[in-house]
Amino acid sequence: MSKRTLIPPRERECERCGRRDVWDDDAEGWLIEEGSPADPYCIHEWDINGRYNPFDG
Ligand SMILES: [Zn+2]
Repeated sequence: MSKRTLIPPRERECERCGRRDVWDDDAEGWLIEEGSPADPYCIHEWDINGRYNPFDG
């Protein structure tokens, strides 16, 4: 069986401002984690960018 399961990331963190997001299945989008800093001027650099590649392989 060569079928690969795609597992999307469940959380991410900005390497610039420290904002953390968690994935919301119902909203099908990212929600800011409670108490997380959120800089509206930050061009967020999510830490999953480099590692997560659903097409790898
Ligand atoms: Zn940021």
